[in-house]
Amino acid sequence: MDQLPIFLHIKDRKIIIAGDGFGAIRRTEQVLKAGAKALIFSQNPSTQMIDFAESIDIQIQDKAVAGDDLTGAALLFAADCDEDENKRLAELASIHDVPVNIMDRLALCTFVMPSIVDRSPLVMAISSGGGAPILSRMLRARLEAFIPSGFGRLAEFAKSVRNQVKQAIPDATLRRRFWEQQTQGPVSEYVLSGRDDDARKLLLNILDDHNANGDVAPKGEVYLVGGGPGDPDLLTFRALRLMQQADVVLHDRLVSEPVLNLARREAERVFVGKKQGDHALPQEQISQLLVTLAKQGKRVLRLKGGDPFTFGRGGEEIEELLSADIPFQVVPGITAGSGCATYAGIPLTHRDHAQSCVFVTGHTKDGHLDLNWQTLVQPNQTVVVYMGLSAVGELTRELIHHGADPDTPACVVDNGTRENQRVVTATLSTLSGRVEAANLPGPAITIIGGVVTMRDRLSWFNL
Ligand code: SAH
Repeated sequence: MDQLPIFLHIKDRKIIIAGDGFGAIRRTEQVLKAGAKALIFSQNPSTQMIDFAESIDIQIQDKAVAGDDLTGAALLFAADCDEDENKRLAELASIHDVPVNIMDRLALCTFVMPSIVDRSPLVMAISSGGGAPILSRMLRARLEAFIPSGFGRLAEFAKSVRNQVKQAIPDATLRRRFWEQQTQGPVSEYVLSGRDDDARKLLLNILDDHNANGDVAPKGEVYLVGGGPGDPDLLTFRALRLMQQADVVLHDRLVSEPVLNLARREAERVFVGKKQGDHALPQEQISQLLVTLAKQGKRVLRLKGGDPFTFGRGGEEIEELLSADIPFQVVPGITAGSGCATYAGIPLTHRDHAQSCVFVTGHTKDGHLDLNWQTLVQPNQTVVVYMGLSAVGELTRELIHHGADPDTPACVVDNGTRENQRVVTATLSTLSGRVEAANLPGPAITIIGGVVTMRDRLSWFNL
């Protein structure tokens, strides 16, 4: 280790920033965050610098840094200065014994600035000693992705209940065990999803219940997670984190294999259906199973295709959880309509084609599609239909029958966002025949409206 990593108190201290440009702005923002008094030195400042200084209510010193200015300064930063000025500032800092950092000039620095992951009060600083800043930035990006944004709040929360926990569990070893359990369970999940009051209530309950060993029966919880339409890159950070801490996974046919593979390897897997007409488990039993497993103290991941609250029956599943008083959270996912359209090169709205977009699901009643046809044949709108391929013929026939132009562009996206994605474009009058000829395996979604023509120009980024 060539340098000593430390965290410096600079609250109310004078910090000099010399330079003009994005580098100087960035440094100023950083030191202000830590409560310092920033003094910006910039000769003939640019309008960018003037605007910035105004926005933070600081008067720019329109001159070069002189020796006197360094009296009482905690640090000196230089950014975007020319080489002569860099050398002069480094020398000046050395004479006045002020630690100095000159951007991109490691040889002139007495300290380096790390890449920072800020989850205050938790702060991570990464440094390559100034030698490979790209690597520290890459590492930082990974940490940013993996450490939930609410992690700082978790630290604040732990601080706020520290005394209560200490009173309830006086033994330090037992207390540590208790905290280890809690930071992986529903209490911390509540905090991370912004529900501090629920977290506090639950924690106090748990403290009441804990036994002489400091152990508490683990509290189960349910994560209702949207797995998106198939491409695992479309998962949210939160989805991935919860997938990796689940004890058991309930998934169905719409969840793609690559997405499912990201769930914790050791987690037990339960396939709960559902193919049309082949329900492995009826909905009520799925909801009941979620409750039963959570009551056994398990972290249950209910992994859904797309978004749980978009034709996903997520609402029904959480009702059961609510009445059984099981902690849960719902994580939105990219719904098939959005994912498939984008991966097919079709914007769902566009100034020239559609100012609104309707998502509908094609239910059948007495063997026929039961839809509000009048609302679906309006001009200047995109209609996205979530339903099996077998109904495409009836759908397009009915739309034409209710007044839609037979030449309206339409398409079917099969296995959208996945490696085997296929798109069949046509018009309302030709779609059904083309889809039949293509012999698609499903799942597939139908998109209708002028926006479909955009695909010709935009599908270059297609899979
Ligand atoms: N909750 C899901 C939708 C469930 S309804 C979501 O938000 O996406 C099931 C219908 O979604 C299927 O019949 C099909 O029309 C559509 N669908 C789901 N995944 C799809 C995919 N990868 N490609 C095309 N359509 C898909």
